[in-house]
Amino acid sequence: MKVIFLDRDGVINKEVGYLHKIEDFEFINGVFDACLDFQSSNYKIIIVTNQSGIERGYYSEKDFHTVTDWMLNQFKDYGVRILDVFYCPHGPESSCDCRKPKPGMFNQANAKYHIDMGESWMIGDKEADIQAANSAGISNTVLVKSGHNIDEKNSKAKFVFDSIKQVSTVL
Ligand SMILES: [Mg+2]
Ligand SMILES: [Zn+2]
Repeated sequence: MKVIFLDRDGVINKEVGYLHKIEDFEFINGVFDACLDFQSSNYKIIIVTNQSGIERGYYSEKDFHTVTDWMLNQFKDYGVRILDVFYCPHGPESSCDCRKPKPGMFNQANAKYHIDMGESWMIGDKEADIQAANSAGISNTVLVKSGHNIDEKNSKAKFVFDSIKQVSTVL
């Protein structure tokens, strides 16, 4: 199985900082069409997202799941199937192995689905997304400008694009 891994905030939805309410969730332009393209090219789609707001106490695990279920339904309405969502609820001081830039969520996904990492991709809006993917054996990486400010010159990403919209041009 080949997979396109997506970070959530800044890639799928506009980055608002510790998003945890449906009413604050705004899809980035073109995300549904991009995902339909990925599916047509026989990629499965998996979301890997840091959610330290949970450990920080800004919102609960239940809040996260409420937003996730709503988001997955929106995708479904457009014919997009998200295979799975992996999240790290821990904060930066935690010694967990799942918070990006650590590769734990990719490894969990690989253990569950037996993924061809060499044929897979990661799309993120932070260098930590790229680093985590590289550590998990994914060299096909895209940094998008639709979220956090990026340092394009010093990025390890294979491609830098304005948004997820452009990714299908290099698959
Ligand atoms: Mg992000
Ligand atoms: Zn974690």
